[in-house]
Amino acid sequence: MIKELKFEEPILVTRPKLPECDKYISYVKDIWNNNWVTNNGPLHNKLKKEMESYLKVKNVELFTNGHLALEVALKSLKLNGEVITTPFTFISTTNAIINSGLKPIFCDINEEDYNIDVNKIEDLITKDTCAIVAVHVFGNPCNVSAIEKIAEKYNLKVIYDAAHAFGVRLNEKGIGEYGDISMFSLHATKVYNTIEGGALTYNNSEFNNKFKMLKNFGMCPITGEILESGINAKMNEFQAAMGLCNLESIDENILERKRIYNCYYNNLKDIRGFKLINISNEYYYNYAYFPLVLTEECKISRDNLIKALEKYNVYARKYFYPACNEVDYLIKSSTPTPVASKISKSIMTLPMYVGLSTESVEQICNIIKYEVSEK
Ligand SMILES: *Cc1c(COP(=O)(O)O)cnc(C)c1O
Repeated sequence: MIKELKFEEPILVTRPKLPECDKYISYVKDIWNNNWVTNNGPLHNKLKKEMESYLKVKNVELFTNGHLALEVALKSLKLNGEVITTPFTFISTTNAIINSGLKPIFCDINEEDYNIDVNKIEDLITKDTCAIVAVHVFGNPCNVSAIEKIAEKYNLKVIYDAAHAFGVRLNEKGIGEYGDISMFSLHATKVYNTIEGGALTYNNSEFNNKFKMLKNFGMCPITGEILESGINAKMNEFQAAMGLCNLESIDENILERKRIYNCYYNNLKDIRGFKLINISNEYYYNYAYFPLVLTEECKISRDNLIKALEKYNVYARKYFYPACNEVDYLIKSSTPTPVASKISKSIMTLPMYVGLSTESVEQICNIIKYEVSEK
């Protein structure tokens, strides 16, 4: 260890982006003036409109968090049976499928960007398959055209977990325009936050009232009748206020993430045994994470590098680990996915947040270079 490289204050893997306090307070004053704190308040409605425009999507519905938004999306499609999904995601994706009474069928991932391997989907389709739930992992778009073709051929619904992909655009379209429904997480750890929060985006306007009904106990937004066993997943005005503040600086923040990303990339790309994701020019990216895979050629294991970084007060994260089909309650009933299994045991994400200075990133890279060469 080189003592001079130790940080005095812990460098965490992520930090929430907070707006200027005064700006937030001015919105909070609006809440007091309106005397309206939740249930489709004026700030909620304003954020919905602004988000439709920023995300370049036809429709947005806002939720209290991303996970419940995903459960509402699944419920709204009246699905039954098996859902083909990826094991390389945050456990929320898998749990939302299970909580909706559906069976997750795990499809392995590709080695390039760790998204669902579109060449392996068709083999898993049975007469019980009703949908594909894919994830734009780390914000890199799935092969949406291949998924669309398969879905058309077998008459399947497509839901994207776009939790990481806020602001990503593909072929001049918002990433949320693809599939039947996409879910964005607006949690404090994500690229854009409303403290906690979630959004569904969709083209079919028939979902408008359905989502409003399902997120408000199953009550019809027009007549107030109880139509279904809905849940409570509404976004409140304090969340919407945070969202309106943070939307003002989103492009600036993505640029700042890009600076951090490029600094890591240039410092680490030539290290033997390190595998980085190639960001393609074909899409507008949001630089949500900096994932790093340590291959067998690397002199140090993922777990040991994470431990070594902790001695310098740097906290990286095993993300995603374990693969979702390797948690206790699924391991026995799921077929193995060797690529996802291997990647989940060798991947880590490095600190990445607005406010992380170039000097700090350089210092983290110097620590990594030293620790990798030591072993
Ligand atoms: C964060 C996340 C979720 C859950 O979103 P919340 O807003 O935290 O409920 C779901 N899927 C993925 C891939 C995530 O990263």
